[in-house]
Amino acid sequence: MSEFASNLSLAEDYLKRFRENTTTHFINGQWSSDEGIETFDNTTPVDNSSLGQVARGTAADINAASLAARDAFPAWSSMPATERKNILHHFADLILKRAEEIALVESMDCGQPLRFMRQAAVRGAANFRFFADKAPEARNGQAMYQPEHSNLTLRTPIGPVGIITPWNTPFMLSTWKIAPALAAGCTVVHKPAEFSPLTAAILAEVSQEAGLPGGVWNMVNGFGEVAGKSLTEHPDIKAIAFVGESQTGARITVQGAATLKRTHFELGGKNPVIVFDDANFERALDAVVFMIYGLNGQRCTSSSRLLIQSGIRDRFIKALEQRVRNLKVGHPLDPASEVGPLIHTSHCEKVMSYMDVAREEGARIAVGGERYRDDSVSAAGNYVQPTLFTDANNNMRIAREEIFGPALTTISFDSEEQAIQIANDSPYGLAAYAWTSDQGRAMRLAHRVETGMLWINSENNRNLPSPFGGIKMSGIGRDGGDFSFDFYMETKNVCFAHGTHSVPQLGKSF
Ligand code: NAD
Repeated sequence: MSEFASNLSLAEDYLKRFRENTTTHFINGQWSSDEGIETFDNTTPVDNSSLGQVARGTAADINAASLAARDAFPAWSSMPATERKNILHHFADLILKRAEEIALVESMDCGQPLRFMRQAAVRGAANFRFFADKAPEARNGQAMYQPEHSNLTLRTPIGPVGIITPWNTPFMLSTWKIAPALAAGCTVVHKPAEFSPLTAAILAEVSQEAGLPGGVWNMVNGFGEVAGKSLTEHPDIKAIAFVGESQTGARITVQGAATLKRTHFELGGKNPVIVFDDANFERALDAVVFMIYGLNGQRCTSSSRLLIQSGIRDRFIKALEQRVRNLKVGHPLDPASEVGPLIHTSHCEKVMSYMDVAREEGARIAVGGERYRDDSVSAAGNYVQPTLFTDANNNMRIAREEIFGPALTTISFDSEEQAIQIANDSPYGLAAYAWTSDQGRAMRLAHRVETGMLWINSENNRNLPSPFGGIKMSGIGRDGGDFSFDFYMETKNVCFAHGTHSVPQLGKSF
């Protein structure tokens, strides 16, 4: 049996239970009943057939989950952090045990090629281990001395939190948000994306197996407009960690206003990769291709705007065209596939609409521009040709709006100054990449490019202690290391007098 056939057969085994049973909510340590509930059909991008029914969460479900999280909070937050650390390490072990299942289910549910999703469980487990190890130190604050007083700060977990995640790499992103919340001592209500709910259910099962007390981890499926909205409005939920579109982030700000919700937003991007004449040509080319066509271009940090310096432009674009034409589009479980189907028919239509936008705006479609059709993939799947737009300028919609698919917009520039101006002329500011062998220039870019994260001579490289997040319409707040704890915890200042200062005396002279 070929590896592809074996993957398909294994995936079917893992998906069978989702096809045959409704995926319900996990509230207060128990799976909710599927009797008499409303559901929605969860489809796979490979051919849009059903992967099974999923419970359509209501405000009442969110209320039950939030109350469970509220009631579980005192015991979980006061548990010695070393105990939480052990539970979270056990959690990571259990994720790794189910790595194959997680990878196959995730690929079928969201269309990301297995070659990338194989890492999903490993990355998810690493997120748990990293924050587990930090748990015992999370409460520690600072000591600040004054001549007659000493101040020290303590951190305490903020309370039950809501975590709302998108569909693009659902497993990894969910663990990235939930692990620090639990390590900090918060309890959680997770609302996964309606387009890719399956690995969130696996995570809830793992939480049960790992021995998390009931109510510490709750998961409610459903749509953003109902389940997501209720979560952001719930008075017992103290903070919302959200990953998704910028417009949704803006809506959540409004929804959470009445309860003064603390919010953390990881939103969209239109990230520039700036390639200078003096760049290492081959390494830059590899990174440019990987950072937009890897993960189907459905990646918040994808470098979707290539700014190419005029001296190497023609040679670079020619080589790029060749590479884009060579990309292997196919079924996500085929080990050879580099680009899989897009998450949903509606998203596929959105991505395809930009092909018309590009034509209307006068850009050239150098490669792609059509739906991908081939006998090796289902005609009913959401396959799109990897696409390269050339001869574009930064005023075009294809350079300003997040397409979130395998489509790269190229813009040429002459000088460093012009490159910085184009890079910064964007409503977004999540990630940026620059390729140059001039260290002074790299340092100048570091100071001037408006972005939350800048990689010099590298594709996206993650370091868990480093801050992750965006500016402008790309987000508010940072994740990673201690930055995550700043969000999930409150800082309390305690001031001790040395007994030497004079206390103001009122009402003594009359
Ligand atoms: P989306 O905003 O449509 O949905 C994200 C989540 O929000 C889903 O769970 C959805 O149900 C929920 N939601 C929708 N409306 C809501 C509302 N009114 N109240 C509460 N919740 C609501 O985003 P998407 O299409 O699922 O994901 C793609 C987007 O996510 C892209 O813009 C991408 O750049 C972004 N993203 C950002 C990062 C990052 O780290 N910055 C990472 C991954 C994805």
